[in-house]
Amino acid sequence: MKNILITFIEKKNKCAHKNALLYSDSGYCPDCGQYLVKNYYLVRCSRCDIKREAKIVWGEVFPRDKYCSNCGAKEFYIEKIDKVNFVDANYAVYLKEIANEMQELHPEVQIWVETGDKCAKQLKNPIQNTI
Ligand SMILES: [Zn+2]
Ligand SMILES: [Zn+2]
Repeated sequence: MKNILITFIEKKNKCAHKNALLYSDSGYCPDCGQYLVKNYYLVRCSRCDIKREAKIVWGEVFPRDKYCSNCGAKEFYIEKIDKVNFVDANYAVYLKEIANEMQELHPEVQIWVETGDKCAKQLKNPIQNTI
């Protein structure tokens, strides 16, 4: 069972959904078949709450600069936004995330922790696709 889990996670991490959601906010990835949605995020300073420019590294959201240009703090937090308005457009970044896992910040970790029926269900479809 452990080997199957590892295979699944490695395979999932390999798809960057590069060809997905080119013209829409949700849909299926042509490379891996997962249903994806675009989720938009803002990075804010933990101390002064100002919006900071964001970047995406390995599928996670980080501030572009190390320190806040307004107060010099290093700490930041990530805010999920439903819609990008004109003011936020310069700051917001989006991730293409699997729709049924959009509530989880780290879906991979969740799979490792879960046991029993729910875990088996999550794994069933991807494995069938690989055979
Ligand atoms: Zn994909
Ligand atoms: Zn600040």
